[in-house]
Amino acid sequence: MKPEPAQRILVVDDELAARMMMQATLEEAGFIVETADCCTRARELFRQFEFDLILLDVVLPDGDGYELCREMRAQNVDLSIPVAIVTGLDDLESIRYAYESGATDFITKPVAWGTLPYRVKYLLRSAQAMAKLSVSEGKNRALLANLPDIILCVRIDGRVSEVQAGVGVQNWSGWYHLPEAENHTYLVPEIYALVEECLRQALAEKNIGYLEFQWSPDGTRLCDWEARLVPQNDLEVLMVVRDITQRKKYENQLRLWGNIFESSSEAILITDIHFRAISVNKAFENMTGVKEADIFGVDVLAIGIRFEGASRYREIVHQLHETGHWQGELLNKRTSGEMFPCWFSISRVLNTAGVIENYVAIFSDITEYKNSRERIDFLAHHDNLTGLPNRILLNDRLGMALAQANRLHEKLGLLFIDLDRFKNINDSLGHATGDQVLVEVAERLVSAVRTVDTVARLGGDEFIVMFPSVRDESSLADLTIKIRDLLQIPFSINNMSLRITPSIGIAVYPEDGKTGDELIKNADAAMYLAKEKGRNNYQFYTPSLNSRTLYRLTLENDLRNAIDKGEFELHYQPQIVAATGEVDGLEALVRWRHAERGLISPAEFIPLAEETGLIIGLGDWVLAEAVSQIKLWQSRGISLLVSVNISALQFRQTDFLWKLNKLLAEAALTSSVLELELTETILMDDTKNSIFMLNRLRENGYRIAIDDFGTGFSSLNYLRHFPVDILKIDQSFIRDLMIEKESTAIVESIITLAHALGKVTIAEGVETEEQFFWLQSRNCRMMQGYLIAKPMPAEQLEIWMSDWTKQTHRLFLPLANKGMK
Ligand code: C2E
Ligand code: MG
Ligand code: MG
Repeated sequence: MKPEPAQRILVVDDELAARMMMQATLEEAGFIVETADCCTRARELFRQFEFDLILLDVVLPDGDGYELCREMRAQNVDLSIPVAIVTGLDDLESIRYAYESGATDFITKPVAWGTLPYRVKYLLRSAQAMAKLSVSEGKNRALLANLPDIILCVRIDGRVSEVQAGVGVQNWSGWYHLPEAENHTYLVPEIYALVEECLRQALAEKNIGYLEFQWSPDGTRLCDWEARLVPQNDLEVLMVVRDITQRKKYENQLRLWGNIFESSSEAILITDIHFRAISVNKAFENMTGVKEADIFGVDVLAIGIRFEGASRYREIVHQLHETGHWQGELLNKRTSGEMFPCWFSISRVLNTAGVIENYVAIFSDITEYKNSRERIDFLAHHDNLTGLPNRILLNDRLGMALAQANRLHEKLGLLFIDLDRFKNINDSLGHATGDQVLVEVAERLVSAVRTVDTVARLGGDEFIVMFPSVRDESSLADLTIKIRDLLQIPFSINNMSLRITPSIGIAVYPEDGKTGDELIKNADAAMYLAKEKGRNNYQFYTPSLNSRTLYRLTLENDLRNAIDKGEFELHYQPQIVAATGEVDGLEALVRWRHAERGLISPAEFIPLAEETGLIIGLGDWVLAEAVSQIKLWQSRGISLLVSVNISALQFRQTDFLWKLNKLLAEAALTSSVLELELTETILMDDTKNSIFMLNRLRENGYRIAIDDFGTGFSSLNYLRHFPVDILKIDQSFIRDLMIEKESTAIVESIITLAHALGKVTIAEGVETEEQFFWLQSRNCRMMQGYLIAKPMPAEQLEIWMSDWTKQTHRLFLPLANKGMK
């Protein structure tokens, strides 16, 4: 251990014994001691050496210790050299005087030699401490002076003992004042009021107190302040006050931005200049599912490029460099893997030097928006109630379909469908029911068409069905029938069964219009025509269709309503016994008195009625009408057998016989009044079943005739088994009788065959006397034809009958003549 360098002490005393005693004692303790007996000598030594301590006697031969001390202090600025006055004068006055002259301490005589070295050591140590302290205090002062703080030493009552203001502090004198009649300064009352509680608490708890407050020291600008109250002792604190106005402003601003950042419903992503994520907000995390920690430092540009392609992002970066801003839609991805559309607003952030520091992307999820846009778009193009395309979308599709039809030289069909008497449903059952009907109509229409076809609702009860690439008008007619039949199936709504019939207008591209509007307009017109013609009807726009199809279509339509409208009538054509001229029976032949077309031949509408199944209803009507006519005639004493034409469908009905029997029973007539005419073809169709049915009819007393005999291909073998009574020789053979050899031969053989099989023959279509006589001579039993009478209404027939029987017909004159011969 390095020994401390010996310390040098100057002892000034005029008394030799005292001087030597001091020197010996101190040298003994390890000090270097210089001695002087007078002021002059002391001055010399003082100049010669650097002393660590000076011991001064008061009374000296050439001056006094006080004087010398003052002199030395004046010479040596270093106040740290302790000077102790050795005085015998133990009075307060001399002690005060010693201090005033710059002495550090005093030692009273007689000196206690034993303790002197300790006393000296103490003086030296405290002097060193003082020296150190003074250095550090100097530093502290310099430091404090450079802090922007005001430091006040404040007592509990607000008294200010010291003030130190740092750099740049203005108006610091405003913090304290000197009240009148006071020797001390105090904190101004406003401040004292603000800090008092904190002050007391800091002192009580011996802890640093902290408070922030607002105050304007100059009475003009309100500033933010913070104060630290550092207890010094039980009574006093060091109050360090700092102006934090600027800091507060930044803090508030930061807090505000922080709040905006975090509470924004829009996602915010901040990147560095290389597009590496630095920060994201809560909304970003919620929207994408990506946590800030997971995206920090990630190159978001590279991610974006994966979603949208590099060229898109090149554009964006380019624009950011050019204009500093970019806005637009970009795809984004959630952690779930789901891609979603976002509306982005990206800006660059420049620092004060104008250099790009960051990029900020603010974006929102526009999935909902886009969905609602799509929904709005859907609503704009679809009917609200049924979800079918509306007129706008129809026009769109029609335009495209027409372009295609034009290119491919195809036909396009357009149906204009209007529900008949729909208003009644709305009015009587309410709109809700009406709506349900419309919805179901829409569903049925959609179910009836292909996906390439379009079903649209124009509003109200008007629908359009568009068929691109239709083969021809007749396939369009088939589609129309299908739709019409589908709509006729009763609607079951609210436990009610509602029947709807449509009226349909049809227009065909290119014949009926070149544009969508024209086609709709013309189909509409055709629909009106259909309505005029009695609803539940369809109508082609122009007769440019092959007339048969058109005619057939309208006819069928009209046929449906003809029974209800009472447009059918029964005419009767007499059948006479060839030998006697006696009226044996009548053939009932149906007539259709069409409202516009007049009388329509059954040759036209019967095949149609058979095809459509309407023949059942019509046949029932004919039978009923015939029966009631027979009944009427019987009541007038006219008893005639009526033969009724029965078509295949009727005959095949399982309850046909039952219905017949019921009819007659109700009219209280026997089956013998009816004869049933069935064509060869009907019977040949399913011979086994036919034979069975014929037998049952026969067993029930009905007479059966085979109509148009000879035209079919009935095998003679079967004919043998058919339980029939009459063969009606088809009029085509009669017409060609004696003109064509074959026909003559056929008629001859039919008659022969009939005789052989025990059946009666009737020749139909007998128009000439030659035919009549020829047939008569060949023993054809019965005759029917214009030569005798045309088919006629019942009333007219009665008149004819009376004429016929009153005077013998000229046909029979030859007979009579013969008889007379
Ligand atoms: P059909 O049963 O062979 O009826 C005879 C047809 O010949 C009738 O024609 C009749 O008016 C016609 N006719 C009678 N005498 C002469 C004549 O001297 N010369 C010519 N050229 N024709 C004559 P219509 O009334 O036009 O009936 C045509 C066909 O329609 C009938 O042929 C029959 O198959 C069918 N038909 C008529 N009424 C009914 C009916 O109520 N039910 C069914 N299922 N078919 C019927
Ligand atoms: Mg007939
Ligand atoms: Mg016939």
